[in-house]
Amino acid sequence: MGSDALVIGAGPSGLLAAKEIASKGFSVKILEEHARVGVPSHCAGLISVEGLKRIGVEATGEFVQNEVYGGRIYSPDGQCIEIRDRRPRAHVVDRAALDQRLADKALDAGAELVLGRRAERLTLADGSVIGASGAGWSEEARIVVDAEGPSRRLAAEAGLAGSRRKPLLGVNAEVACEIDTTMVEVWFGAETAPGFYAWVIPTSERLVRVGLAAREGDPTALLDGFIGRRFGSASHSPPRAGQVLVDGPVERTSSSGILLVGDAAGHVKPTTGGGVVLGGLCAIEAGKVTTHALEAGDTSASFLAGYDEAWRRLYGPEFRSMQTLRGLADRVSDERMNRFFDAFTKAGLGEVAAGLVAGGDMDMQDGVIRRALSEPRLMKAAISGLGRLALAELRGLVNL
Ligand SMILES: Cc1cc2nc3c(=O)[nH]c(=O)nc-3n(C[C@H](O)[C@H](O)[C@H](O)COP(=O)(O)OP(=O)(O)OC[C@H]3O[C@@H](n4cnc5c(N)ncnc54)[C@H](O)[C@@H]3O)c2cc1C
Repeated sequence: MGSDALVIGAGPSGLLAAKEIASKGFSVKILEEHARVGVPSHCAGLISVEGLKRIGVEATGEFVQNEVYGGRIYSPDGQCIEIRDRRPRAHVVDRAALDQRLADKALDAGAELVLGRRAERLTLADGSVIGASGAGWSEEARIVVDAEGPSRRLAAEAGLAGSRRKPLLGVNAEVACEIDTTMVEVWFGAETAPGFYAWVIPTSERLVRVGLAAREGDPTALLDGFIGRRFGSASHSPPRAGQVLVDGPVERTSSSGILLVGDAAGHVKPTTGGGVVLGGLCAIEAGKVTTHALEAGDTSASFLAGYDEAWRRLYGPEFRSMQTLRGLADRVSDERMNRFFDAFTKAGLGEVAAGLVAGGDMDMQDGVIRRALSEPRLMKAAISGLGRLALAELRGLVNL
């Protein structure tokens, strides 16, 4: 007899879905290809204070390394906008330790975790997913939750469409140096990170996590160049690479017998590539729909489409606004970005931006994007940098 639910992948999304299903008394087996949960980690580990609470995790020293209050954002020509809040806005976490915490919660709820077991393929019968198999094993289940992360290999087998564009490649390395531990840095520019940005995240008084994602070029070489320019000859750990998804959710996240969660579903913020919180929240919804389907004895595509409806209702507007902003950001040249920073500084908009950020939400960005687009002084600076047409298009797309 198989389990009620088979979860493929012990990342945060799979573990949160597993916990939700197991806590309702259903049998859940989680398969993880690696020997340890959360290892290897390629994540920058920046998670909003509210976001961690939303996914039901209490911040503890077990995995929280630092707290940050805001950021310094650098234009391609080195101008800086600093935005600082009075309260800590984000935790810097050790992702392997956070994932282990989530695994403990899933296990406490009754889920079973099998490490070192890679699902090579899905098992299909009459167009429905009924399990998965790998080298020398096969497992059946009433529902499969695909939490395999950004590769989406199994999702494609289930006929669930992937991203339209190639994902960005991201890299992180730890650099030994002393900087202000209360602020992150974000660096824009085609020389640094074409098509995205670089980040500097202090993990302690003596160590920073430095990374970037890029649409083109060799990210490891770009990271070496950036670390050299920013930190001189400071030594750094070998970079770890991973895919950063910024294209928003895939078209369909469920089919008969299967639900996609987390990166596999494209549940990642298109503005920043962060997926722990929104991916986790949608995965909790997947867990709820799974328990309803198991209770009803109905794992058909039409029943499980309730999951697509649930996350679209709750988070669809967030993904849409962030995707629209990403689309605009993708078209902003270095020159225009420099002009925007210049206009922003000359107009003394630091206070305005700080006010927006103080009232804003790092994960649910729809509200702050709308408020920014309705702020006349900010829009004046944005027009001089980004152009009236691009902004009109952005405002139109978010129905302002
Ligand atoms: C460079 C970089 C920096 C990032 N920084 C941040 C950040 O600061 N904040 C943030 O919120 N997000 C960040 N992200 C994104 C974040 O890492 C992901 O959105 C998040 O990990 C998605 O969680 P998940 O559970 O969907 O997938 P994953 O965390 O990728 O977990 C998938 C799991 O499935 C396992 N697996 C895969 N295939 C199989 C298989 N066939 N059989 C069995 N097991 C399998 C994998 O080993 C893995 O453990 C970053 C990503 C990158 C690449």
